[in-house]
Amino acid sequence: MKPSINDILEGLDAERIGLDESFSFHCTQCGKCCQNRSDILLNPLDLYQAAKAMNISILKFVNDFCEAFPGENSLFPIIRLLPRGESKTCPMLKDNKCIIHHAKPTVCAMYPIGRGILMGSHEHSWDLLGEDRIEYIFSKPNCGDTAESHTVREWLEQFGIPLDNEFFVKWCVIMRDVSACIEVLFEKEQVEEIVHLVELSIFKLYLDYDLEQEFMEQFEKNINEVRFACVCTLPEERKSINGGNI
Ligand code: SF4
Ligand code: SF4
Repeated sequence: MKPSINDILEGLDAERIGLDESFSFHCTQCGKCCQNRSDILLNPLDLYQAAKAMNISILKFVNDFCEAFPGENSLFPIIRLLPRGESKTCPMLKDNKCIIHHAKPTVCAMYPIGRGILMGSHEHSWDLLGEDRIEYIFSKPNCGDTAESHTVREWLEQFGIPLDNEFFVKWCVIMRDVSACIEVLFEKEQVEEIVHLVELSIFKLYLDYDLEQEFMEQFEKNINEVRFACVCTLPEERKSINGGNI
């Protein structure tokens, strides 16, 4: 049986929080959260916005500032900002300021709020849209102070993060489906197909965007290509996974 979100949160210094519930936090701008970090993960939209903010290609941004590695259990390719020096300082921190402040990664913008998505194994991928599927988590910060009170809704709105975040839902779904495909290929010991799917996922999901064009349309096209590759790669009897045809 899959663990519930409460099981996952148990033991972490975090709790589930509703959209209109309040939490107390005031960022004192000390900059400590940009050091000793090796966990700033970037999704494709983060990469697109950061590269655009720096006026360089996504490939150059990844080559200069990031590292790609396979997810521990899923083997799905993950991209993170590569910290620098003994202090493990984020490469986007210059003179104690984030140089991509207005395009900073979602995890930085949302802190101390995190989010996850409920995905039952029986559900078809595309039935998941809607804010009711997104769960929010408040991680008790050990920084800043409690001089301000915010609702989750207001916190996200001030950083321009939409509540019915179509990108976030579709990103979670394609990660789940590619991971499930890799799992099947792993069982079948189809190593070459796994390598191909991982390489395709890195290229199509993270890199293959024209920064002059709107993001979402390109993202939809790219996830469809990766999904098609999954379907073509899977053996006939396993083409239906996660309860739907991927
Ligand atoms: S991206 Fe910006 S806000 Fe996020 S850790 Fe790096 S410097 Fe800090
Ligand atoms: S108070 Fe917390 S969130 Fe704000 S800059 Fe300092 S460490 Fe980062």
